Amino acid sequence: MTEPLFERLALIGIGLIGSSIALNARAHGLARHIAIATRRPETLKRAEELGLGDSYHLEAAEAVRDADLVILCIPVGSCGAVTKEIAAALKPGAIVSDVGSVKGAVVAQMQPHLPETVHFVPAHPIAGTEQSGPDAGFLELFRNRWCILTPSETTDVQAVERLRRFWEASGSNVEVMTTEHHDLVLAIVSHVPHLIAYNIVGTAADLETVTQSEVVKFSASGFRDFTRIAASDPTMWRDIFLTNRDAVLEMLARFSEDLASLQRAIRWGDGDALFDLFTRTRAIRRGIVEAGQDTARADFGRSAAGEGKTEAAPAIATVAPDR
Ligand code: NAP
Repeated sequence: MTEPLFERLALIGIGLIGSSIALNARAHGLARHIAIATRRPETLKRAEELGLGDSYHLEAAEAVRDADLVILCIPVGSCGAVTKEIAAALKPGAIVSDVGSVKGAVVAQMQPHLPETVHFVPAHPIAGTEQSGPDAGFLELFRNRWCILTPSETTDVQAVERLRRFWEASGSNVEVMTTEHHDLVLAIVSHVPHLIAYNIVGTAADLETVTQSEVVKFSASGFRDFTRIAASDPTMWRDIFLTNRDAVLEMLARFSEDLASLQRAIRWGDGDALFDLFTRTRAIRRGIVEAGQDTARADFGRSAAGEGKTEAAPAIATVAPDR
């Protein structure tokens, strides 16, 4: 058997992402010891019942002691406070990472607390579901999904390479970019689409002339696909919008301009403008399917293992045979 990449992996937070990392670390022999820490005793107990780790801690500092890889798998807004808690216990030479959906704000919160003796390599697996907690994790979550690393220019290249190998062994494709670029790209592919979904579901819920039962009854005509995204975790998404404010506002301004021109096309009966746009968007959908990031099947894999998946793209994570 080959040597594990890490001696001791510490996972702080054991929800959907933390538990999926634990399952991968175990299945692929990536760490000799998996130490799990979380805030609430009931979550820790559940992680233990599921056998996700080798040791279980309510104090994050205890879990990170002697760890050579520490990954924060907690809401973006909590990363600063937790880093402060663990800083003194970090082993010199350890790699410290996270999985937060926003990178600039996470770096700004964590970096000031980290000792110079550790290697900080922020990460974001572009994979997820609208489910939360330790039961939500599954082994295939990261398979054929991108994981973006955003080290600074001065980060040790060997540390970046080790973390790259960790994510690749979990099935991910890895790309390195700056924190600023990450936040801009994610604003348009993930954050603004979630905001639109939250908004349209909220608008439908507030309508007085259409009943709630009609909204539910006729939802398969399009609304249903928005409700999956709008069911995502409220804490996580509140934190994303508060911490990626500038990039989201920039993309939202462009979105509003484009929406206004669609409004104008409808008002003036400009069918050509509508047809041209819908033709271009259909080609983008084809490109996503061809890139293996979704399946062309019309039911989006709803027939098994729960409704749609992933943070940035629709459906099928657990069931699609072509991923
Ligand atoms: P989750 O299922 O809700 O799990 C969050 C975990 O963090 C739970 O174990 C929770 O523990 C713990 N936690 C919360 N606040 C904490 C605190 N202050 N101190 C210590 N532990 C705390 O969330 P998730 O979906 O795994 O998301 C975790 C991170 O991954 C977020 O930063 C998110 O941006 C990122 N991410 C999510 C997705 C996605 O689609 N879900 C995709 C990519 C990246 P308790 O139960 O003990 O409170």
